[in-house]
Amino acid sequence: MEHAQDNQLDHSLPKIAALDLAELYRCVHCGLCLNQCPTYRVLRLEPESPRGRIHLVKAAADGRIELNERFKEHLYLCLLCRACETACPSGVQYGHIAEKAREMIGPPGSKIARAVLKFVFTRLLPYPRRLRTAAGFLRLYQRTGLQRFMRLLLPAKLREMDSMLPVIPSRFFEPNVGALPAIGARRARVAMLNGCVMPFLFGDVNEATVRVLRRNGCEVVFPKDQICCGALNTHNGESVAAKMMARQNIDAFLEAGVDAVVVNAAGCGAAMKEYGHLLRDDAAYADKATRFSALVRDAGEFLAGLGLVGKLARLEMTVTYQDPCHLAHGQRVRAQPRKLLESIPGLKLVEMEASDRCCGSAGIYNITHSGMSQHLLKEKMESVSATQAEAIVAPNPGCMLQLRYGAQRYGPAVSVYHLMDLLDRAYAEAEAPK
Ligand code: SF4
Ligand code: SF4
Repeated sequence: MEHAQDNQLDHSLPKIAALDLAELYRCVHCGLCLNQCPTYRVLRLEPESPRGRIHLVKAAADGRIELNERFKEHLYLCLLCRACETACPSGVQYGHIAEKAREMIGPPGSKIARAVLKFVFTRLLPYPRRLRTAAGFLRLYQRTGLQRFMRLLLPAKLREMDSMLPVIPSRFFEPNVGALPAIGARRARVAMLNGCVMPFLFGDVNEATVRVLRRNGCEVVFPKDQICCGALNTHNGESVAAKMMARQNIDAFLEAGVDAVVVNAAGCGAAMKEYGHLLRDDAAYADKATRFSALVRDAGEFLAGLGLVGKLARLEMTVTYQDPCHLAHGQRVRAQPRKLLESIPGLKLVEMEASDRCCGSAGIYNITHSGMSQHLLKEKMESVSATQAEAIVAPNPGCMLQLRYGAQRYGPAVSVYHLMDLLDRAYAEAEAPK
């Protein structure tokens, strides 16, 4: 059954809404965030910095400047990585300012590009069955040779975008209908987010996460009526659809009666932890949203808090860790994934320079702003290379795709794993008959 209801969505552009002026005036223009901002570091231009963008939004809120295309470009060149929030001593929540401003101005690009984005955000992402059909078509496109043929015809820009498409696996992840029992003594009952692209692109990571949770005494459920978390919608000004998706998830997950909602995609986890903020003006959902958000845990954060049990085999490998922006800056989760990696015997963790600087993936940013995205990715791969690690660990699907592309295009030829992949492997090898 398709649960997102058409009549719950407003397909018109979001109406101009009042900005949160108090948040804007919290910025004291100290500039301490500037050198942490990836776009400012590359361009050295004030309007491409957090402080500059806050100035622009304030000027727009005061009616001093027009909401024109240039204004939009500055707002959308931002990766929404939230590194500025970590750096800010005044606690400015830049992400909320940028999301609200984007809601006012709508998505970027030409009329056609905006129509495509609108379709994806409001007609595709909220509907799991449509997503599955789209992933099936993409798989056919890749398997039948049509992709090879199209690459001969496509203009350079589209050919580059096509080369970034991940290979769609032959099998999609099917969440279990009933509860999956804990292995050994039950320590918690958790619900897992299936995600919008995770079951099609990273079904193996969802499977690994389930196995690791169960081995650690968790009973795992996948609430049937859950849908995409709505993060991409929130980040791109599609707040009407984002709120509808949040309400549906809140109802689905709260009904499951669990100790925690476990999420293995950093961007989704950050968005779900902010449902309380997203629905703060919704009288029917504000309290429920706050209660729901308090249950959300990143998979690494949850397992580190619970404490791993069971035997882990030695994995003789050297890895480096990429802090996904929405885990390090959005959720302030840094130590826990490292603690889990260090608990794997034989595994050596070598830190790269600026591990919490964005890799340029940022949702759909690598498609909408490929120039800046590739610049950041190339820099990231140089930092990876300096560590001489044989693999990168990045617990977020967007970062994994971007870093795999980076390893292919710029080198070094490293593997890219989710944290759950390595934990699962260490457990499986320990259990394998000798
Ligand atoms: S969110 Fe990231 S890219 Fe955007 S202003 Fe802040 S630091 Fe810069
Ligand atoms: S956002 Fe924070 S760090 Fe940046 S200029 Fe404003 S007060 Fe300073």
